[in-house]
Formats: sequence, structure tokens, C-alpha cells
Amino acid sequence: MIVVAIDGPAGAGKSTIAKALAAKLGVRYLDTGAMYRAVTFAAMTSGIELSNQDLVAELTRKSKMLLTDETVMINGLDATTAIRSSEVTGAVSTVAANSQVRTELRERQRQWIADHNGGVVEGRDIGSVVFPDATLKVYLTASPIVRAKRRVAQSGGNVDEIAASIASRDLQDSSRSDSPLTQTDDAITIDTSDRSIDEVVAQLVEMTDQRSSKTA
Ligand code: C5P
Repeated sequence: MIVVAIDGPAGAGKSTIAKALAAKLGVRYLDTGAMYRAVTFAAMTSGIELSNQDLVAELTRKSKMLLTDETVMINGLDATTAIRSSEVTGAVSTVAANSQVRTELRERQRQWIADHNGGVVEGRDIGSVVFPDATLKVYLTASPIVRAKRRVAQSGGNVDEIAASIASRDLQDSSRSDSPLTQTDDAITIDTSDRSIDEVVAQLVEMTDQRSSKTA
């Protein structure tokens, strides 16, 4: 079973690269950020205070989530677009710092990989905590300005404002006590600032093939 863990800060190119890599390897792709976003969306729409950790955790445990490559459903609602809103983006790191939420989502991520017989998984704690024995661990990064410009090209907005919002989210994600964003010693670090998607994906396909032939 192949598991590729792709971690890194916002705007580093994780989703684009993870999707393309999964297609090349012939495995499924799991966006764990979408799971944290979906829970945040569900809590916000049910009017739950995000600071009420027990209630948010209870909602998480009760929620039915369905993720495909194109859509995110939570409790029967199509939240694909709503989970990318600036409101959800601004609140998601608070929900992601809730340890009870992380415990539940981590279990679901492991179950998803078991059900799909492997995959490419992107997030913040995939190589460090969720799949410490992954076939390949990748830490993607890019300069702050490149990351902000990419987000603006994707969803519009002002570069300075987006750069500030990314910096604040990265700080929250890397300073929380439960499974913070971190680079593990055994991860391959790739700076995507000046590299094309195709080039990075080709490198990762080769590395995954090498690793999986060693462990096969
Ligand atoms: O990847 P994306 O930017 O959509 O992730 C949204 C948020 O979800 C992150 O800023 C982080 O707070 C949280 N997250 C996390 N652990 C993961 C994936 C995402 O804490 N494995």
C-alpha cells in the first residue's frame, strides 16, 4: 500500500501537486484541510461557539462527511464552495487546535486510507502524526510572497491582506500544542517558488516509485 504524506503551509502548492501526483500514481487523493474546514463550516452554521471545545468536538463526532475529488458534503449539505469562504478560512485554525476534533478526524483519515488501500494525503500533520510510516513524506514550501500571489490568482483579493491572513494562519497552525505544522527529519523538503508543477510531480513520482519498490 502506498501512502504519500504532503504537508506544508498555506499556498505552498499542496493541493495541486497532491492531486496530480495521485493521478499519476493511480491512487486516491485526500484533502484533510477540507475536513477541518467542513467541521468549521458545520459549527458556524449551527451557531456553536468555536471556543466551546466540547460542543465542537461532539458535532465533529456526530457529523457525516463525504469527500470526493470535486465535492465536500457534510451532514447532507454541499459545502464545497462555502468551506473556502474567508469566514471559514479565518476560523478554521481555531477549530484545528481543538484536540478532540483532531483525534476524531485523524481516525477518519486513517480509516479512509485503509478503505481506499492507500493514497496521497495532504495536510499539516500527515507525515508527523497521522501516517508516520508513510511511503514518502514531502514538506512543500514557497516564499510568503509567492504563496500570497498564488492565493490571489486562485480566489482574488488584495496581496497584502492575503499575505497577512496566511501568515496569521501559519503561525496558529505551527504553534498549537496538538500536532503542529512541522517538518520531520525524514521528509523531503521542496521549495516550489520557482519550480513548475510538472517538474515537482515528476520528481515525486520517481521518489515514490523508488521507495515503494524498496518496501515491496
Ligand atoms: O489545507 P487548508 O489550507 O485547506 O487547511 C485549512 C486548515 O485546516 C489549516 O490552516 C489548519 O488549521 C487545518 N489543518 C490541520 N491539519 C491538517 C490539515 C489542515 O490542522 N492535517
